[in-house]
Amino acid sequence: MNSNYEYEREKHRQIIALYKSRIPYFSRGIFKVHLSFLAFIVWCVVWAESAVRYYSLDYVDFSPMNPRIYIFPAILLLIGFHLFKPLRVFTEKNYYGVITQVKNVKKLVKSHSAGRRVFYANAPVRKLYIMDSSGKIHKKTVRITGTLTHIYQPNTVVTVIGAESYPLCHDKARYMGKLPCVNCGNLEKPSYNRCFNCRKLLWTKEN
Ligand SMILES: [Zn+2]
Repeated sequence: MNSNYEYEREKHRQIIALYKSRIPYFSRGIFKVHLSFLAFIVWCVVWAESAVRYYSLDYVDFSPMNPRIYIFPAILLLIGFHLFKPLRVFTEKNYYGVITQVKNVKKLVKSHSAGRRVFYANAPVRKLYIMDSSGKIHKKTVRITGTLTHIYQPNTVVTVIGAESYPLCHDKARYMGKLPCVNCGNLEKPSYNRCFNCRKLLWTKEN
């Protein structure tokens, strides 16, 4: 990637600019991340409010020796972190880089056969190791089936839009005339405006 550094950086800038110009803020992945951060704040405020009321009752022991006044807030914070994942606000960044490694992820998924019998199968989930321009390795876990297997190969330069699921290949030719959906990885006909699979706006039209 070093020889094409300027080119890839410019390409990355174009992709991000195009994404922002075509996709309204409310449809972007980052909106959901901001929303979950807000939900986490609301969660904390609501519980803090009720805690203040509870501890102001006469018969409640609010002494520093009472372990409950530490345990309950800690549990509630942990649940909140697990539910809303608020720290994503600080970690979801756009970057570009080269795929250095594609690893299989062992994950079983529940499926139904025709006879409605439940069985477990290996999910086609891969972990992409993407090295950005500063040499830092990012990991991105994606579900890869069909044509996508040929697209996400080592030495491919991709742009990752932080809050979206699928990295975008800088080399447009890999998509063979189709439009990639950043949300579900579906490859769509260029005449379509939205992804047939998840209804998300496709935005790489002019690219
Ligand atoms: Zn889609």
